[in-house]
Amino acid sequence: MKTFNVPVAYRSPLITAIKQKRKQEDKMKKNLSPTLLDFGPLQLYLARHFGFCYGVENAIEIAFRTVDENPGKRIFLLSEMIHNPFVNEDLKARGVEFMMDTYGKQLIPFKSLGADDIVIIPAFGTTLAIEKSLRERGIQIEKYNTTCPFVEKVWNRSNQIAAKGYSIIVHGKPSHEETRATFSHSAAEAPTVVVNDMKETIELGKYITGEKPAEDFYTEFRGRFSEEFNVTKDLQRIGVVNQTTMLASDTQAIADYLKQVIATYYDLNDKTISARFADTRDTLCYATTDNQGAVSGMLEQNADLAIVIGGRNSSNTSHLVELCEEVLPTWFIRSEADLFTAETILHFDWRRKTESVHHNYLPAKYPVRILITSGASCPDAMVEAVIKKLHSFFPDARNYDEVIDEWSK
Ligand code: SF4
Repeated sequence: MKTFNVPVAYRSPLITAIKQKRKQEDKMKKNLSPTLLDFGPLQLYLARHFGFCYGVENAIEIAFRTVDENPGKRIFLLSEMIHNPFVNEDLKARGVEFMMDTYGKQLIPFKSLGADDIVIIPAFGTTLAIEKSLRERGIQIEKYNTTCPFVEKVWNRSNQIAAKGYSIIVHGKPSHEETRATFSHSAAEAPTVVVNDMKETIELGKYITGEKPAEDFYTEFRGRFSEEFNVTKDLQRIGVVNQTTMLASDTQAIADYLKQVIATYYDLNDKTISARFADTRDTLCYATTDNQGAVSGMLEQNADLAIVIGGRNSSNTSHLVELCEEVLPTWFIRSEADLFTAETILHFDWRRKTESVHHNYLPAKYPVRILITSGASCPDAMVEAVIKKLHSFFPDARNYDEVIDEWSK
């Protein structure tokens, strides 16, 4: 896979050495067991896959290069480039301004833009309406477009099934930038509706079978369906695509559920189902699949707790937290700064969107075994900073450099 030029401050020599060694030993990515850093009283298990993905590195390279190559120009990011507060702050510190917040609220009006300005499209992509607005002001969006190719792959997949006459069901978080972009691109080609989860999918199924009156759909799914969506006609042939960072098992369950509803209602079997249900498989990206798979591998360890590092509005990070939480106590932190002391931690509850301080998160036992992973927009340097801070809480731990040297050989 292509390598990118990202600021060295985001890299970690330790993590790079570990990732390279694991890759050389397991090119086909079959071994999902974590990497053990054995400090004696502290045993850290690093997930087989974590951290920056292709799309994030690509976006960071383009954004920082754009800043370097355009001194004196006004440079805007359409919204957060990736969901990592530290990377976004770095860009702001270099003079980059954000035009919208992560929910699409306009911070700087498009009308203030001129043809000399640069607007960088984030890795999530953007809507056709925004692309049009930017073009109308003479902005060259192609030149500074960091839309991830794996997001574009989803758009292409939905276009393909749209061309065959299927409506599109998008499994995603309705307010997430990527889902808004995918909805926009899909809605231009086919009737489209967004579902957030299985609960909503079950309700959608009731409109397929007529169990719920059609007119209720327009209230229940307000803001989630394309213009002129006809619930009676447009749910007869469907295909499911997803926001690339959703939980793989959730998307599969949603697709399986809708397929079953259609099969039962229209009396179709495995051979005839394709007439009304497009086989999209899942449209998750490789990084989501790898990182979620690596968490499953990591969870086979008999650990005491898990620490997941990433931005609080990062969808893929919250899903890693969700997977860990099913098995053991899990702490969602942004960086080592949230590890206040060996006794207290600042944890983010991604479901309630609240933070809270917790005490005694490290058990009083020997050794303490901790699973560590991070989201696709979290720099490896931040993971190493967490490792170092945890190490500092164990005065009897083996020498840090000694353990690191074992990996750097
Ligand atoms: S998580 Fe996947 S789709 Fe999103 S930017 Fe990374 S590689 Fe692209």
